[in-house]
Amino acid sequence: MSGPLTTADVEAVAAGSAPSPPEVEITDSREAQVGALRVRRALPRRERRTVGAWCFLDHMGPVEVPPSVEIGIGPHPHIGLQTVTWLLDGEFLHHDSLGSEQVIRPGQLNLMTAGRGVAHAEESTERSRETRRLHGVQLWVAQPASTRDGAAAFEHHAELPRAEFGAATATVLVGAFGSASSPARRDTDHAGVDLDIHGPATLPLRRDYEYALVVTSGAISVDGRSVEPGHLAYLGRGRDELQLSCSAPARALLLGGTPFEEPVLMWWNYVARTRDEITAAHRDWTERTDRFATVRSSLQRIDVPPPPWVTP
Ligand code: MN
Repeated sequence: MSGPLTTADVEAVAAGSAPSPPEVEITDSREAQVGALRVRRALPRRERRTVGAWCFLDHMGPVEVPPSVEIGIGPHPHIGLQTVTWLLDGEFLHHDSLGSEQVIRPGQLNLMTAGRGVAHAEESTERSRETRRLHGVQLWVAQPASTRDGAAAFEHHAELPRAEFGAATATVLVGAFGSASSPARRDTDHAGVDLDIHGPATLPLRRDYEYALVVTSGAISVDGRSVEPGHLAYLGRGRDELQLSCSAPARALLLGGTPFEEPVLMWWNYVARTRDEITAAHRDWTERTDRFATVRSSLQRIDVPPPPWVTP
């Protein structure tokens, strides 16, 4: 059933003009605890589970971590997702069950594909133990049916393409933005862009993508709304461009993609379709089967009780 058709609706369609862009919808992030760190979890929220295939976003810091606190995160498993690690300050040493060992620094991208199963750890480095500073974003991308049962993989990109749009410098982490394309692997049609902005900028968008903006420092004005750290500004679909402005330098992540149509079930570090898949993956992690190979790490592996739907 449809609602009443007004004259205004008829005229807009008859004139062939594009509908006005959707209103910006601002959702507050949830405070969550990851290891010893407080993070702002912008995705998933009850109101907004995914943006394209992006299904998880933790913004941590900026923070000076007390010397008593371990910055690293011990070995833990993933299935059905890609982890996208992006730092604004600090550094980590990535270890995974594929044997990868890689330091990540600000401006670089770590992209790990879990497929049927991978395990990894993020350790502090000598430098990060000295500076104690940490500011970064951990994102997950849900894998589609075509690759989610496939092999695990890891990529590090020390250099990423950049493009200027007015007073904004866009660094393309994943996908394409304007004429710049990231070399990073992509299993669905999505994009992720870091924005370093110091004034007005008009960004090119794709009408078939839905988008969201997460500000990592400062404040950015979008359609007259101020977006700050701790917000997810959902921009919807159908926009050709996005006008941003700020009164002081700011940083943000712009996420976009064609809406992810497959069901997504998330529990702990797993992205799946059914509870049974998660139950099986967690049993394999807990029982240390060869599904999740060993991670060489000085940190203790992380174990948690089974999902709440499993009865002993
Ligand atoms: Mn992880």
